[in-house]
Amino acid sequence: MDQSTQVLVIGGGPAGSTAATLLAREGFEVTLMEKEVFPRYHIGESLLPSCLPIMDLLGVREKVDAYGFQVKRGGYFDWGGEQWNLTFGDKFEDLTFSERFVDNNYGYQVPRADFDQLLLEHAKSQGVTVLEGVEVKRLVFDGARPRTAVWSPAARDAQTQEHETGFDFLVDASGRAGVMTTRYLRTRRHHEAFKNIAVWGYWKGAKKLPVGPEGAIAICSVPDGWFWGIPLHDGSLSVGLVNHKDTFKLKRQRGASPDRIYREAIDECPAIADLLTPAELVTSLRIEQDYSYTAERFTGPGYFLAGDAACFLDPLLSTGVHLATYSALLAAASLSSILRDEVGEDEAQDLYERTYRQSYFRLLVVVASLYQQYRGKDSYFWEAQRLTLNDCSATDLKQAFVNVVSGIEDLRDAQATLDLAMDAGGKVVAEEFRSTNTVDSMPPEDHELVQARMQFFHSAMVSQDVRGLCVVTKPRLGLARP
Ligand SMILES: Cc1cc2nc3c(=O)[nH]c(=O)nc-3n(C[C@H](O)[C@H](O)[C@H](O)COP(=O)(O)OP(=O)(O)OC[C@H]3O[C@@H](n4cnc5c(N)ncnc54)[C@H](O)[C@@H]3O)c2cc1C
Repeated sequence: MDQSTQVLVIGGGPAGSTAATLLAREGFEVTLMEKEVFPRYHIGESLLPSCLPIMDLLGVREKVDAYGFQVKRGGYFDWGGEQWNLTFGDKFEDLTFSERFVDNNYGYQVPRADFDQLLLEHAKSQGVTVLEGVEVKRLVFDGARPRTAVWSPAARDAQTQEHETGFDFLVDASGRAGVMTTRYLRTRRHHEAFKNIAVWGYWKGAKKLPVGPEGAIAICSVPDGWFWGIPLHDGSLSVGLVNHKDTFKLKRQRGASPDRIYREAIDECPAIADLLTPAELVTSLRIEQDYSYTAERFTGPGYFLAGDAACFLDPLLSTGVHLATYSALLAAASLSSILRDEVGEDEAQDLYERTYRQSYFRLLVVVASLYQQYRGKDSYFWEAQRLTLNDCSATDLKQAFVNVVSGIEDLRDAQATLDLAMDAGGKVVAEEFRSTNTVDSMPPEDHELVQARMQFFHSAMVSQDVRGLCVVTKPRLGLARP
């Protein structure tokens, strides 16, 4: 064994650097291994307001604010024939995670190379031992518990001598590579309904969106899918097309290149085509597919899966970095209390599973309902309102939608005990669970949506063991029974 550490984090994306920094700020010994040398390219540029309170906890908010990223005050939807704006609200006074309550009503549009590097550099400044250009090749287990990472420099021309680092706990934040799930647990399941392909590129000289709040993401449906338009602070516009894989394949079989499919879809989308009239595509197109999946479990003996290593939903609501930093916060709070002997490992892991899964399924329900483009915006708002456990009496349906899709509802859940959530909405939850428990009677196109609803209400109802536990940030980050 070359060395050892209390917590090993695999991956230096938003999930890894968030978990590592929070743990280091609690005084634990943390080592983070990242395969690439930053800055490195990554997709996932549109961030939600929920990232802001977490940046406060990391102590990085000022650095991010000062960087000059494009501020994003909401979104513009041109969806299924309807157009509407979504403006992030400032009704987050009940969040104890952040001192700066009223300032949490925006997100950012970020080139991820810059953003991820900023977070990783910050992690170093907070005491995390960061090894860049280092790949975890394999893990050595003691029974089901990972105990040692075998790693070597990732660069091809570097000497390939292997090293070993022992650890007490592992946070696997290795993204889609998913070291634990794909190599050892084999518990990753892909979503049939979201078998999509994304094709995107960067444009210079595009028009500014004439509608919507400042820095809005444009989300525009087309007959076979949808587009995102994300304005970045360097003046470029990130434009991505998402198609179902079968549709895309069919077009390819008929001889269309990805470039032609992308450009023809732009022609079918008046809102995006208008923005791009004076613009020029300045990069080659990038393609990704099969990115919607979830692991059967997010924790196990001695480990937590955070961010894309655990699950990824879909780009539609820009929830990837939110779920990455949110799960990292939950993992860091859980580990802090485990390492301080305040709660048992099983109990903390139950809370992690329940809270993370509940957030994932809630967003899955909203995304699945949006994919049924014919339903109309009022039905999406209504759907979101049924999923808000902490304020079940909310009558402002659009506000409920904003709270869910800005990630703020998830932060509320984490800081509320299950008791509180159940007190507020116990009856509603039980009722919803009963009424959604009828998947067989639904038309096939509704199955994904109904299943997700069932899973959401199920995760809200079970886990009696973790009743009374919630995430606290004061006086220290951890789990507590208030
Ligand atoms: C088409 C598309 C569009 C998207 N758009 C958005 C968006 O607008 N907004 C949004 O929030 N999200 C978006 N996402 C999702 C977003 O990209 C991810 O959810 C987010 O990057 C997850 O962060 P992470 O830290 O979990 O993983 P990552 O950011 O992927 O970081 C994982 C890191 O682990 C490292 N690693 C992997 N294996 C090893 C190993 N063996 N050893 C050492 N290091 C390793 C990798 O090099 C990588 O740097 C999009 C995704 C797709 C596919």
